[in-house]
Amino acid sequence: MLYRDEAIVIRTHKLGEADRIITLLTRQHGLVRAVAKGVRRTTSKFGSRLEPFTHVDLQLAVGRNLDTITQAETQGSYAAPLGADYERYTAGTVMLETAERLVVEEREPAVQQFLLLLGALRAMASGERGAGHVLDSYLLRSLAVAGYAPSCVDCAHCGRSPGPGPEGGQGHHRWFNPSMGGVLCSTCRIPGSASPAPETLTLLGGLLAGDWRVVEAAEPRHLREASGLVAAFVQWQLERGLRSLEYVER
Ligand SMILES: [Zn+2]
Repeated sequence: MLYRDEAIVIRTHKLGEADRIITLLTRQHGLVRAVAKGVRRTTSKFGSRLEPFTHVDLQLAVGRNLDTITQAETQGSYAAPLGADYERYTAGTVMLETAERLVVEEREPAVQQFLLLLGALRAMASGERGAGHVLDSYLLRSLAVAGYAPSCVDCAHCGRSPGPGPEGGQGHHRWFNPSMGGVLCSTCRIPGSASPAPETLTLLGGLLAGDWRVVEAAEPRHLREASGLVAAFVQWQLERGLRSLEYVER
């Protein structure tokens, strides 16, 4: 039986003499591991279409264990622009790895995660926005889609609203703890909580919403502080650290 889907190539590894197992985030079938036969031969009909960071249209044949890729057509390749820039490449690698970790259901549609990753790869490859901002926004949004959004305004523990700020706008609780799910009021704070600047919490909300006006208006020190909180939050949520996060300069 054959089926079609579009996918982003997450990773590949060698199988036997000439084949590879390709890990794919597909739109309609979630995470799929499929065999690409003969892909390591120079004469392969697949060429470089099954490299990580490539958006492909696929035809697959259902197999007993792994499906087999029978056709692949490139829709967009982000490998070259990302490969030319170390910061963008490492950030892109973290995105692929995060998507693989967050899409746990196989054979189930993963449309939102697929579109989020595709949009983030395009933004990362275009170079129009800072690599760190694209990454941080992607991490928060993909966690939110998976059901792990951090609380950026109301207390993550008791739900209390911080009320208005000193100048009448949105106020902020003072504390943030990844293990508690985000910001904390003074009553719920636990030892070891961070005490970020109010501007950093506004920025976190902007990253989570994909609101680039907020992100672009932010000062570097708040961007740095937000990146640290995002990294801590992601690592906590995924239980063990994403290996590639260690290589992202913050
Ligand atoms: Zn509270």
